[in-house]
Amino acid sequence: MEKRPFITKEQAEQIALKYPTPFHLYDEEGIRENAKRVAQAFSWNKGFREYFAVKANPNPFLMKILHEHGCGCDCSSLTELMLSETIGVTGEEVMFSSNDTPAEEFVKAADMGAIINLDDITQIGVLENILGTLPQKICCRFNPGGVFSISNSIMDNPGDAKYGMTQSQVFEAFRILKKKGVKEFGLHAFLCSNTVSNEYYPMLAKILFELAVRLKEETGAHISFINLSGGVGIPYTPDQEPNDILAIGEGVRRVYEEVLTPAGMGDVAIYTEMGRFMMGPYGCLVTRAINEKHIYKEYVGVDACAVNLMRPAMYGAYHHITVLGKEDAPADHVYDVTGSLCENNDKFAIDRKLPEIAIGDLLVIHDTGAHGFSMGYNYNGKLRSAEILWTADHTAKLIRRAETPEDYFATFDCFDFYEQLAK
Ligand SMILES: *Cc1c(COP(=O)(O)O)cnc(C)c1O
Repeated sequence: MEKRPFITKEQAEQIALKYPTPFHLYDEEGIRENAKRVAQAFSWNKGFREYFAVKANPNPFLMKILHEHGCGCDCSSLTELMLSETIGVTGEEVMFSSNDTPAEEFVKAADMGAIINLDDITQIGVLENILGTLPQKICCRFNPGGVFSISNSIMDNPGDAKYGMTQSQVFEAFRILKKKGVKEFGLHAFLCSNTVSNEYYPMLAKILFELAVRLKEETGAHISFINLSGGVGIPYTPDQEPNDILAIGEGVRRVYEEVLTPAGMGDVAIYTEMGRFMMGPYGCLVTRAINEKHIYKEYVGVDACAVNLMRPAMYGAYHHITVLGKEDAPADHVYDVTGSLCENNDKFAIDRKLPEIAIGDLLVIHDTGAHGFSMGYNYNGKLRSAEILWTADHTAKLIRRAETPEDYFATFDCFDFYEQLAK
């Protein structure tokens, strides 16, 4: 599918007059329309809730927009819990899906009344010690091990993943928890990241639903929800077919009626924890070409770098690039598009066919709405960019200002930074 930016060159230049590049820009209308489709896709399930995976984009303004469409928050750290609380999302609207969890984070989650998703069987005793008592409702994270395949192609390798409990541990955990007075149970698994396939959720659902039926029969536990977690992907490359969330919801419904309903479990709520699918396509990184270089390859240097978007450097991930104003120009040049880090992997694109780029051109790097800004860092003393919401009525609203050098130096407050420098 052709990838078109959600802004024009003129609009982007207008924004850049007030907020200099680089910046992440988010499409409010796109976020809302998608959130509505997700709700519609699972409307057959009475208790359905999407818990937005906050780590994908921890911006309270965006989290709030999703909350207006019924989404809760999936958190896995103290500050993510605090962000949720700040926007008024607490109690069972918060899923705490953490691992290797520090004690104070369990305390905060319990204080907020969040649903705790236990990553490991050893955490039962830990949690009981920390809280003094176990919550009435608790979730366990399952890891089936092995490899996970869809139509004979290996999608991911749960056996190598640090998350979740083995099958026998899940049974054991349910028995222990039940004995300790837990009343309601949830079951969770995350087997595969960024699946561009309508099959993933239904296949995962089948695994979890069948396990849930056995858990109910063998332990007598009352399972009130099943959490399909994240992993529903987006097409980063133009040749990929986007997921059809309505088909995915329908696929899960079919498995539900085949497995859960006949087992007398037709009241189980379905939860999801999507991050990428909720936000990825509705954000982009807007950056300006500031340098060119002609050596063994042709380079275009932009004013963003890997600290603004780490995925290409970290995973070799593809992010589509559009040169604004040249959407329909022939892609008859080949460039490496680089940032300024003293790291050769700081390249947004390698050997990419693009229209001829002039210094000063604005580039849109697509699909940065999830795991984009949020993976940012400060290497080379680089500063985090602004985040801007492109509202439904096409105005630019600043939802996080750019960092300044003062922000970068702020953690030197153990001594008088400027006084020390003067010595
Ligand atoms: C990262 C994560 C998600 C979201 O994953 P996406 O691929 O962005 O949908 C959901 N749940 C948990 C526990 C995660 O760690």
